[in-house]
Amino acid sequence: MILHDTDASRRDVLAMIEPKTACTRCGVTFLQRTAEQTGGLCMPCYKYVPEPDPDDKSDEALRQWIKSGRTITAIKLYREVHSCGIGEAKNAVEALIEEILAEG
Ligand SMILES: [Zn+2]
Repeated sequence: MILHDTDASRRDVLAMIEPKTACTRCGVTFLQRTAEQTGGLCMPCYKYVPEPDPDDKSDEALRQWIKSGRTITAIKLYREVHSCGIGEAKNAVEALIEEILAEG
């Protein structure tokens, strides 16, 4: 096998020889180097945000619903907590999404 001396092939060779490990949550095989940074989780599992307790009505739970992609649930929760209309709740949740995105 002839390897061309490009960054891409060098990266491929590195990926082949680098030690790998299995994700402690989903079992997918990935680089040991990543696992050391994430505490044993692959990137998708590391970034995954679990849904909050449905009985939790705190602001933190509201943010967690948004981060886990459940915007509709976040709007419903906001309406329930603030006793407001759907328009107001939607605006508030959209503002919160902007805020979360700005945090990175
Ligand atoms: Zn995983």
